[in-house]
Amino acid sequence: MSGRFYDVIIVGAGPAGSYLAYKLASLGYDVAVFEEKNTSGLNVCCTGIISTECFQSLDLGTDTILTKLSSARFFSPSGRCLRLQTEKIQAYVVNRLLLDKAIASKAQSQGAQYFFSSPVIDIIPGKDSIQAETLCSGVKDIFSARAVVLANGFRPELPRKLGLGKINNFLVGAQVEVEAKNVDEFEIYFGQEVAPGAFAWLVPTSTNKAYVGLLATSQAKLYLQKFLNNLFSQGRITSREMEIRQKAIPLGTLAHSYGDRVLVIGDAAGQVKPTTGGGIYFGHFGAQIAADVLDEALSSDNLTAGQLSRYQKRWKAKMGKELSRGYWARWAYTKLSDRQIEGIFNMFDFNGMTEALLNSGNFSFDWHSRLILTVLRRSSAYPLLKIKHLFFRGVSS
Ligand SMILES: Cc1cc2nc3c(=O)[nH]c(=O)nc-3n(C[C@H](O)[C@H](O)[C@H](O)COP(=O)(O)OP(=O)(O)OC[C@H]3O[C@@H](n4cnc5c(N)ncnc54)[C@H](O)[C@@H]3O)c2cc1C
Repeated sequence: MSGRFYDVIIVGAGPAGSYLAYKLASLGYDVAVFEEKNTSGLNVCCTGIISTECFQSLDLGTDTILTKLSSARFFSPSGRCLRLQTEKIQAYVVNRLLLDKAIASKAQSQGAQYFFSSPVIDIIPGKDSIQAETLCSGVKDIFSARAVVLANGFRPELPRKLGLGKINNFLVGAQVEVEAKNVDEFEIYFGQEVAPGAFAWLVPTSTNKAYVGLLATSQAKLYLQKFLNNLFSQGRITSREMEIRQKAIPLGTLAHSYGDRVLVIGDAAGQVKPTTGGGIYFGHFGAQIAADVLDEALSSDNLTAGQLSRYQKRWKAKMGKELSRGYWARWAYTKLSDRQIEGIFNMFDFNGMTEALLNSGNFSFDWHSRLILTVLRRSSAYPLLKIKHLFFRGVSS
């Protein structure tokens, strides 16, 4: 049995895929989105923190907002606390189920057709079209299109099958929502014994509820369980028996995010901030750029890899440096001992560096590389000298 013919087939109804579907459908293209879950945003493992700029650009309703963030408390390995506050709200914690549903419903209102419970199991490129083999509610079917976009998150199989490469490096994120006491600010915990290579967090989601999560280079679930046990014994959370969700976060980018009649966007392409693991905004940029490039390619009926390579050039020009510097800064951080992390906290605490940075114009919720460069260039404290050395060696390699 053979399905319909579309201009573009999108694999995955996450924020990147659905935003692209919305843009292309608004331009009048015939778009189909295939999603393996039975609805958008179901059981997503994500904290949903996005900057106010990202929120505005996604044009979401305020009903998606759980909490507004204008301050954060950073905890060193020994428990020293550094509090940062800005006058303006910096970010929102949004409900991922509502966010995914809201973008999908905007795409549908522009005419994009959604197929839920429909995993794409293979992509078969041809000369005049490209085919997606799906299991629509368990029944095998083949749909054809002029182009296919992979927006299926960090799942290496399809890009690898298409010869686009594979992202080998990743972090693992784990999270639960818990009943909590006195969690009224974003709390971030550092230390190689708390969350090796990354950090842990508490984020208020409503009165008496919070997300507790962490990113780690491995065994995220195990470290999160340990973190939950500590919070429970301090009386900060009232239960520790919940189902922990986890998901891998790509570090580094796909060698080729384009091919003949194919593009790759979002987590699938590695469009994720390596410093925090946040991928909603950068995947959104990827989707915007993909929409522009596909519009040009579809209108000139030139969907060759040569034409579509413009996509990679443009998204790398926008965020390539940011991703590479973030990657090396995070890698250098994994090499620090807890004592050295403590040393960095001391430096921020006593040298007035925090205020100087907040007021320097280099602070941005989304773009971290300018801040990283400023901190590294300004400081001669030992732990930062070590990071500086590793960072600049990595960036220039
Ligand atoms: C613990 C944790 C916390 C995070 N917190 C934040 C945060 O606060 N802010 C932030 O910006 N980012 C955060 N992220 C990252 C964020 O979740 C991702 O970057 C974002 O979801 C990527 O969007 P996407 O559309 O590219 O992919 P996804 O959201 O992964 O969507 C991909 C979709 O494709 C579907 N799919 C997969 N394979 C197939 C297939 N073969 N056929 C059909 N459908 C398929 C999936 O079911 C899914 O719906 C976090 C990640 C983790 C793990």
